[in-house]
Amino acid sequence: MSTHKGSISVQTENIFPIIKKFLYSDQEIFLRELISNAIDATTKLKVLSSKGEVKGELGDLTIDIIVNKKAKTITISDKGIGMTREEVEKYLNQVAFSSAQEFIDKYKDDANIIGHFGLGFYSAFMVASKVEVKTLSYKENSEAIKWSCSGEPEYTLDKIKKTTRGTDIILHISPDAEEYLEDSKIQSLLDKYCRFLPVEIRFGKKKKYISDETDETKSKEIEVDNIINNTSPLWKRTPSELSADDYKNFYNELYPYSQPPLFWIHLNIDFPFNLTGVLYFPKLSNSMEVQKNKIQLYSNQVYVTDDVKEIVPEFLTLLHGVIDSPDIPLNVSRSYLQSDHNVKKITSYITKKVAEKLQQIFDNERKDFEDKWSDIGTFIKYGMVTDEKFSEKAINFCLVKNTENKAYTIEEYKAHIKANQTDTNGKLVVLYTNQPIEQDAYINAAKAKTYDVLVLDQVLDNHFIQQLEYKNTDLKFVRVDADTVDKLIEKDEKIESVLSTEEAEKLVEIFKLSIHNEHTEISTASLSPEDQPVTITKPEFMRRMKEMQALQGMSFGGFPDSINIVINTNHPIFTNKFLKMEGPAQSEMAIYLYDLALLNQNMLKGADLTRFIQKTLNTLTV
Ligand code: ADP
Repeated sequence: MSTHKGSISVQTENIFPIIKKFLYSDQEIFLRELISNAIDATTKLKVLSSKGEVKGELGDLTIDIIVNKKAKTITISDKGIGMTREEVEKYLNQVAFSSAQEFIDKYKDDANIIGHFGLGFYSAFMVASKVEVKTLSYKENSEAIKWSCSGEPEYTLDKIKKTTRGTDIILHISPDAEEYLEDSKIQSLLDKYCRFLPVEIRFGKKKKYISDETDETKSKEIEVDNIINNTSPLWKRTPSELSADDYKNFYNELYPYSQPPLFWIHLNIDFPFNLTGVLYFPKLSNSMEVQKNKIQLYSNQVYVTDDVKEIVPEFLTLLHGVIDSPDIPLNVSRSYLQSDHNVKKITSYITKKVAEKLQQIFDNERKDFEDKWSDIGTFIKYGMVTDEKFSEKAINFCLVKNTENKAYTIEEYKAHIKANQTDTNGKLVVLYTNQPIEQDAYINAAKAKTYDVLVLDQVLDNHFIQQLEYKNTDLKFVRVDADTVDKLIEKDEKIESVLSTEEAEKLVEIFKLSIHNEHTEISTASLSPEDQPVTITKPEFMRRMKEMQALQGMSFGGFPDSINIVINTNHPIFTNKFLKMEGPAQSEMAIYLYDLALLNQNMLKGADLTRFIQKTLNTLTV
């Protein structure tokens, strides 16, 4: 047989050392690239067959991955269209080579994107010192050809004996890449990149246990093909044919051992771009970070990455699932991706779909939606504060829950409190707590006035409140401990004070002398006799400024912890007893009442708390 020798490229320097050097960190993608080529060749064959251009049965089309540790080779063997001699010359020597070269010239400084995009056939040289291609075209009367290249621009072409249609790529693994000769390594790469490829991929045999027909108590071991992929993944199937269990099982396939998802969205679009996928709303754990970056990006069922930051909006990275689109340009740099027109469209499409699905669940299964609010609420609020478009839609199904755990949309809630919680300026005052247990006394005081109190206790709620106030100028949010209950919602009705102005001033004077705290404002209010005798309040505005500062990582130094002490001039302690007491007893009582107020606000801590308890015990003992 005659050997034809050729040279791949004469005009440029040898790219093989460059391939090895620059792509070292993402070496492993060679397998994905070569298997993708095998899939393409098989898919093309199926297409030609369906058009009648390939006659007869296609037979088994399984792609085989064979590791030969002794010979130090990995073979990727397909039964696809194969290549004729001319095609080998054209595709492997010219097209593949020049595209590999172009890729390297362009991206050798951007190691980041190499994992997103292979340089095709020539990535084989990242791990192989020699590559052989044995191929037989589907075309009638083709001769089988072997192409061989040892990492120099020179290659050889030989006529060989090969009777089965398709291509075998034989990689002679170089000494520094011998880890790829381990079955476990190849199996893990196949699991990562090839799990959902559309043509069956076989990697040797595996053991399987089946029950023995002759004796039910026994099972026997048999050897079966080790097929590593699910060729028809759920996202490629028709939603109407799928059951809830199908979606849950697929979720389990993607994320074994996790809790079942809350619900899912099946994405399916042909125009103006092609995109399929399934997004799941996971059950959130406390830490949002851990849950992030679980969406896998595929391109025609080939795994690309789980880093989808540029493709889905930030808040959607909390979702799980799969996005598959051949239209996402993976072969360009990241900054370009962000400004890419198609990517922008995809992003807004996904956002729209997610909003629509949430609206649909809200409309059709409100009870279920409310029950799942603690999980999806975080996600929706995150979306609302970070994505304007989403916020516009989400405002219709975003819920708030009160201390009785009753849920309302924002509009429903406005209607609910309108009659009772409109202040003298015509503003609707929303009362809320961020710590229902700690602020119990304040909540009770508000409820005694028949006010409603919302629970807004998530980190995000600060921003959420800010946004709601910004968009609804008739709304004002006030935390239950921001003021005494009579002033939380400014109204005209006033309770007469039992004590005179002079007596009230005297009270303030005694408290000032007893407490010695120059950072606090001390004042009196004429509240109901049932309200607390002394209340600590934290003015809304100052507190929010501080919280914002803290969220932005600024020091606490800027604003002092501003608290107010308010004495209820109608409480029986003051109306009946206090002013008649001796000086020292008065002072002690003032401190005691102040401590109680601090305790009520969860502010009595450390040495002060110890002192308080000791003093109380002493009183009880005598
Ligand atoms: P790409 O796949 O992006 O076109 P490659 O460098 O991977 O680039 O491959 C170049 C060409 O070589 C392919 O387009 C295809 O025509 C041919 N080729 C590669 N592998 C195979 C194969 N297993 N069977 C048939 N043709 C192949």
